[in-house]
Amino acid sequence: MPRIVRTAAIAIAATIALAPIVLAQPADLILRGGRVITVDASWRIAEGVAIRGGRFVAIGDNAAVDVLRGPQTQVVELGGRTVVPGLIDSHLHQLFAAINSPAVQLLATRNVAEVQEAIAARVAKTQPGQWVVASSGWHESILAEGRMPTRWELDKVSPNNPVFIPRGGHVVTVNSAALQLAGITKDTPDPEGGVIVRDPATGEATGVLLETAATLVRKVLPPPSGNLRDLMKATMSELNSYGIVSVVEPGVDERQIALYRALDDAGEMTIRTDVLYRAMRKTEVEKGIAAIKAQKNSDMLRFVGIKFPLDGGVEGARMYSPFRIVPGEQPDPNYRGVLLLPPGKEDEYVEGLKLIAAAGLQAQTHAVGDETIDVIVRSYERVNREIPIRPLRWTIMHIFHPRDAAIAKMAEIGIMATAQDHPVLLGHNQVRWWGDERAADAIPIRKLIDRGILVGGGTDGPVVPVDPFLSMWWMTTRQVLKGYVLGKEHAITPKEALTLYTINNARVMGVEAERGSIEVGKLADLAVLSQDILAVPPDAIRDTKALLTTVGGKIVHRAGI
Ligand SMILES: [Zn+2]
Repeated sequence: MPRIVRTAAIAIAATIALAPIVLAQPADLILRGGRVITVDASWRIAEGVAIRGGRFVAIGDNAAVDVLRGPQTQVVELGGRTVVPGLIDSHLHQLFAAINSPAVQLLATRNVAEVQEAIAARVAKTQPGQWVVASSGWHESILAEGRMPTRWELDKVSPNNPVFIPRGGHVVTVNSAALQLAGITKDTPDPEGGVIVRDPATGEATGVLLETAATLVRKVLPPPSGNLRDLMKATMSELNSYGIVSVVEPGVDERQIALYRALDDAGEMTIRTDVLYRAMRKTEVEKGIAAIKAQKNSDMLRFVGIKFPLDGGVEGARMYSPFRIVPGEQPDPNYRGVLLLPPGKEDEYVEGLKLIAAAGLQAQTHAVGDETIDVIVRSYERVNREIPIRPLRWTIMHIFHPRDAAIAKMAEIGIMATAQDHPVLLGHNQVRWWGDERAADAIPIRKLIDRGILVGGGTDGPVVPVDPFLSMWWMTTRQVLKGYVLGKEHAITPKEALTLYTINNARVMGVEAERGSIEVGKLADLAVLSQDILAVPPDAIRDTKALLTTVGGKIVHRAGI
């Protein structure tokens, strides 16, 4: 029997006359003498890999890759170091990170005075009247005061320049000059789906704006400065330095599609990017499908589906039971967050979803609150009765508070989830706005996996730092940067965390045949790590560095090896 099989194989090889020649060619790049965690179906550990034409051509012990060594082959001696598949973040706002990069960085500040200093330093370099904008990648819970700075505190260091400090995608604080430009006064009512936070004694706006109230200021912001294409290249390069090779870009418009198109056409992308078009109304879905269908996909750039934002962040999650009263920020005992449906409500959302399914595309919906997750599950289910959604990889993003019934339905009809490490920064606000129990129960990855949901991992960078090892540290320890643990029972193992960041994310994106593990024939994406994340205590995972990263066999980052 074996002889017959071999004969058949030779016959096939002879007909196409390719396989023997390909095997004889030397590799472009060999990495040897390491501990290669392949994340293939059997989690095989190898010593080395050989890469040719952008793909893995051999994986095994040193002898197995050495035979492909030719005079031109570049060889990297790993010295026992750990290699993992190139890391994938299934929710990272790459464009937003690029736009944000020239802004004032606040992640290192520890009190309001330090925020004031950072703003003052930028004001000193800015013409009077020009905007001073901070990066959203920080959180007030890292400040000793545990709250956003007020307009009055910002006015002290910036009386003449409007100041805009976003935090994440849902909360901002601004100074008086910015409020004035946005036309927000004491008498301005809260816009639908938003809150203008007010001083309880005087009723004056404090400068802090939630959800759609922040849009009032966003509308008057100037366009971002700097050459966006250069900023994008720098951002991709920074991501490569963390071992990241691929991201999902969650929510762009036509203009941003054009920017990605230009970057890919020029061969300037070093992060494989799977793009989702942002839509809410049915007409926007139609536009998005047309925009996607007009594009062609490559190994570096794919246009895969539509993203819907259906509720807010921690402060705007749509919940069945009321939030806590947060003195100075959330005074309403009946406040339950915001549900951001299109004007035609759930029916219009479902009509949009049906168009997406008919086009064979992916739908991904942002959801934090339990009520929002239920809306999505029953809407996806309505579509599933007509067109099975399992093959389309429809996903719920963030998934903070899924009820048990929702999880069961997700497993039944094949809805996927992606989880990000928001609690590292936002955990403190989860406690303040939701109470201890709901804060700890948020993002129950352990339960989701155990009940058969496919979960992908990521960061939501730059809302949260883009560092994948910080995210895996949170997944495995459930620690937050404020120094405590939230929901220890939802921790997963380091091996599971690596699965979320590699093959599971590839599955969410429908590219598991090409990416997500180190296997012969797959795209040669890998990361060499400073330590073995499966062997060190989970608490040490956050100290991991990527020493070398390849994308399609090209070394895109190398430091310290
Ligand atoms: Zn996001």
